[in-house]
Amino acid sequence: MIKANNPKIKSWLEIPADSDFSIQNIPFGVFKYKNNAPKVCTRIGDLIIDLAKANDLGYFADLRIPKSVFRNTYLNDFMALGKKTTRAVRDRISDLFNKRVKKWNSRDLIADFSYPAEQVSMLLPVKVGDYTDFYSSIEHATNLGKLFRDPKNALLPNWRHLPVGYHGRASSIIVSGTPIRRPKGQQMPAGAKKPVYGPCRLLDFELEMAFVIGKSSELGHPVTTNQAEDYIFGLTLFNDWSARDIQKWEYVPLGPFLGKNFASHISPWIITLDALEPFRVKGPNQRPKVLPYLEYEGERNYDVQLEVQIQPEGSEAKRVSLSNFKYMYWNMCQQLAHHTVNGCNVNVGDMMASGTISGKNKNSYGSMLEISMGGKHSIKMPDGSERKFILDGDTVIMKGWCEKDGVRVGFGEASGKVLPAIP
Ligand code: CA
Repeated sequence: MIKANNPKIKSWLEIPADSDFSIQNIPFGVFKYKNNAPKVCTRIGDLIIDLAKANDLGYFADLRIPKSVFRNTYLNDFMALGKKTTRAVRDRISDLFNKRVKKWNSRDLIADFSYPAEQVSMLLPVKVGDYTDFYSSIEHATNLGKLFRDPKNALLPNWRHLPVGYHGRASSIIVSGTPIRRPKGQQMPAGAKKPVYGPCRLLDFELEMAFVIGKSSELGHPVTTNQAEDYIFGLTLFNDWSARDIQKWEYVPLGPFLGKNFASHISPWIITLDALEPFRVKGPNQRPKVLPYLEYEGERNYDVQLEVQIQPEGSEAKRVSLSNFKYMYWNMCQQLAHHTVNGCNVNVGDMMASGTISGKNKNSYGSMLEISMGGKHSIKMPDGSERKFILDGDTVIMKGWCEKDGVRVGFGEASGKVLPAIP
């Protein structure tokens, strides 16, 4: 067992029972306090822990981590230290806050390197080099196939044989809390003879999770399903904003482009794969049998509850979806093995999103396209208004958390408000 994952560990720090940031979580992020330079941090309960300062004070001295790793705008250099070291850092942080490790049992001691969470700004944690988006939920792919193509043959012939994906755009991946503008683009309205240009009318979210690469691979050398976890540092929430009308007109034959690349929100925390270890579950049965390079052993799915809320301007939020990462047909190890099987290399900081995560039931659909059945049905909001897609002024909030043996490991949130299109 990874030491910091022990469910019996209790902290001397008061941590609210419903906090995403239990002492068993210890995620990594990048924060900024006032006008100071950004630094790498973790969060426990309601406290942000400045890891650069902790390193300066010698708490990681035996691990010999260069100062620049934590005095950094991104987590990339930290992740690149490798799992042996990042795991040791997480274990050490656990010790610092562990009630039973008397050596550091003092609030005074940490007063030097902690901040109340509401006093800092959280920044984009990773410098994303390349971004790939998969399409790995069978429920989502089936729902979309029914809406866009043939209900009897919803899945295309390749779907059960490989994790379908495409190369996305890294420049527009932004941290939670950053507002976005409604995108403009070409659309072909139903019945029209010519395309029109204007603000997207069918703006949608996609409930996804993304994994972050913490170890680079070599060009020409595939990563196997067995090796894959060594390359995956951790996970974050991912809202892959989609302009359905732009997407529908542009996507044939080369796939998603401007309907997808205008913005994707992530949560500010990367939850390590280590912290998710206790929440492994078996994935769905894969039929027909996959090709040998996609075979895997053990439990490679994770039980992460996922939630989407829409909050209209000036009103309370409403939950519109409750899904789970465990529904994924293709797991991350298969995705990475497939991504690299042709010799394509990956780099530290690359981000791979799961694809929209939908469950079997209506209340577990991961996009408005599915929830509204392509715009046929609307849902009622607390302020009496109705939604088929996302309106200006709406904030879309995604949350994720794992719970087991009295331990909660949460992802914080990925939220973003939609502002009107630039005139
Ligand atoms: Ca997507």
